[in-house]
Amino acid sequence: MIDSTNEPTQMKSSELPPEFGTLEDYTRQALRIALRCGEFLMRRELNPVSWRSLPLYIVPASWVPSEENLSVGGLCCAHFDVLFRPIIEKNSIWRGRGPCVTVNDKAIYELVAPRGNPVLHRASFKRKFVSVALHEIAHAIFNAPFRVVDDVSPETIEILESRQAAPFVSIPLRDNPTPWLQHDPLTFGRVLIHLAHRINESGLLDLEFDVDPSALYSKTLYGVSPLYDYAVAFGDEPERLKKIPLSLLGVFDPPDAATKLFADDVARWEARRSAITETPAQQ
Ligand SMILES: [Zn+2]
Repeated sequence: MIDSTNEPTQMKSSELPPEFGTLEDYTRQALRIALRCGEFLMRRELNPVSWRSLPLYIVPASWVPSEENLSVGGLCCAHFDVLFRPIIEKNSIWRGRGPCVTVNDKAIYELVAPRGNPVLHRASFKRKFVSVALHEIAHAIFNAPFRVVDDVSPETIEILESRQAAPFVSIPLRDNPTPWLQHDPLTFGRVLIHLAHRINESGLLDLEFDVDPSALYSKTLYGVSPLYDYAVAFGDEPERLKKIPLSLLGVFDPPDAATKLFADDVARWEARRSAITETPAQQ
């Protein structure tokens, strides 16, 4: 399972004044934009080429009946399409197996507390929803696409069904050997920086907003510098390599500035870790 962002909530949706849109209304609009961007990336980037016509599914948390406290921003996991198929069929059109990610729209709705203007509130929700969705779609495209077409055994389906709400409430980061596991800024972070550049250039967002690489990545969760700093360090690389498939970026050495930034982050993390694990000197 692949994690994603996890943010504290600030305000209960029940407290929103009536002039602000409902969660259902916001989600419908944001979902449309996120699917448009995700399908654009899939059509360009998914390999083998025959997979590019696969459907993409984004399941918002509000579609999933759950009594549990939702805390995770979004997730991507192999076989999510199988797990959520009944929910997809109820809320959307099932078009066969394909990459599937979740976005916790409920948490986002509460996170983006109203700041006096309903238009800005709606825009903040869309921006956050699309950012979380793109992070997860990047995982679906780059970390797990080969699982999409695997056969799923009845045992696996049984396990998935018994954990239907679990994807929204657990985040298995604590046991990772490094906080940036699967989110190494020089590989996955780099993909997100390039992806943001390609989406922004595509015109798909209708000038509503630009995708901000920093919004696609949690520096707190992954224990490294903000992705904005990496975007600066990568310089004009997203423009220079914009015709290279994202999955092939690793063929090119990252700029020295980016390599150095990550080396500094790793050194800082190692110093912090040894300070925490150091046993007190015997008196
Ligand atoms: Zn992630």
